[in-house]
Amino acid sequence: MDEELDIFEYFGIPVVINACGTNTRLSNGIMAPEVARAMAAASFACVNLVDLQAASSRVISDITGAEAGIVTCGASAAVLLGAAACMAGLDPAAMNQLPDADGLRHEFIVIRSQRNMYDRAIRVAGGTVKEIGIPDRYSGTGVRDVLPWEIEAALSERTTAIYYLAQPQSLPPLGAIVEVARAAQIPVIVDAAAQLPPAENLRRFIAEGADLVAISGGKALGGPPASGLLFGREKLISSALIQMIDLDLAPEQWTCTGEFRSLSQMRGLPHHGVGRSCKVGKQEVIGLLMALRMFVAESSETRTDRWVSRLEAVLAALPAGADYRAEIVPSGSKPGLPLLKLQFPSSERAAEVDGKLRVHLPPVHLDASRVRQGVLAVNPIALRDEDVPQLCGAISATCS
Ligand SMILES: *Cc1c(COP(=O)(O)O)cnc(C)c1O
Repeated sequence: MDEELDIFEYFGIPVVINACGTNTRLSNGIMAPEVARAMAAASFACVNLVDLQAASSRVISDITGAEAGIVTCGASAAVLLGAAACMAGLDPAAMNQLPDADGLRHEFIVIRSQRNMYDRAIRVAGGTVKEIGIPDRYSGTGVRDVLPWEIEAALSERTTAIYYLAQPQSLPPLGAIVEVARAAQIPVIVDAAAQLPPAENLRRFIAEGADLVAISGGKALGGPPASGLLFGREKLISSALIQMIDLDLAPEQWTCTGEFRSLSQMRGLPHHGVGRSCKVGKQEVIGLLMALRMFVAESSETRTDRWVSRLEAVLAALPAGADYRAEIVPSGSKPGLPLLKLQFPSSERAAEVDGKLRVHLPPVHLDASRVRQGVLAVNPIALRDEDVPQLCGAISATCS
């Protein structure tokens, strides 16, 4: 552990106490030593990236139940590559054309209540977003979200796919969307970037009929921050792969593997695709595969116990007599993830404490997503056991 602290000190970079979760802004989380060692070991030899992704596909298929899978440089990249695959299929001319989608099916249906800035990846690939539905239950003026027939009515010869944001509150249920998509023979891309835990979600969306699933490697999986998974139908995954990898080679030198067998149907070899900017290194691929294996090897109970005991250590070291009420509670959004909730008397007070902690030395970042309810929370995922004294010292200095 000291090794990692020293490297930041060496370059003069302050280390923060991350009690806010695996946020990209704070460099995600902490990798297990096994993952870090696997990445280092991968640095000392060269491999063919297609062989590396073929091995990834075998591991990912085994764990997710999907036909095929690849490691990408993040969930956002996975959505971009998935969108490109839905637009270009196995046509090298269409691949060469993207992100110019003229003449291609390019519309992606996005349910208005599921709009989010990550769906921009669709547009980066060359697609357009078609919003549908009036989610008036969110505006407080009604009771509905979009209904499956409204999605059906929005389909046209321009429709490429349906983008579905998987969140516990997402409506309609994925199964209803899949039914509409199957009838129209268009794929469903599920953005499940942050839907772990529970571990069952690694298989769930494929089991419910999704054609492509994107998951972040740098969040709860504990992989490298710049890693992610894209898995689903072999044909779409093969298209995504060929649009990502470097293709500076003569067509006769190209060979494909059984994992990506659909590529043998291409009438020619495309140039570098729209996904070439989503390059993923061998270190990230190996690191994520190792993290994925470790994630599924640990039982949900053990993982939760590990997080709870870290929060109990924080709770035990918090100062007495402060103006918040501290309690370990389920996160609500992620089954199996506990949070240490600090309930302040007002939202202003919570915001003031949050602001002071961010400029504390070392800077302390709590989960402030419910600051308007006067709540700050300690998220255990990216917190290290050795951070506990400094975290509690900072809270003590700020709150008493
Ligand atoms: C975090 C997140 C992403 C991006 O994940 P990266 O792995 O950082 O690229 C995409 N979509 C959603 C819904 C997310 O929460």
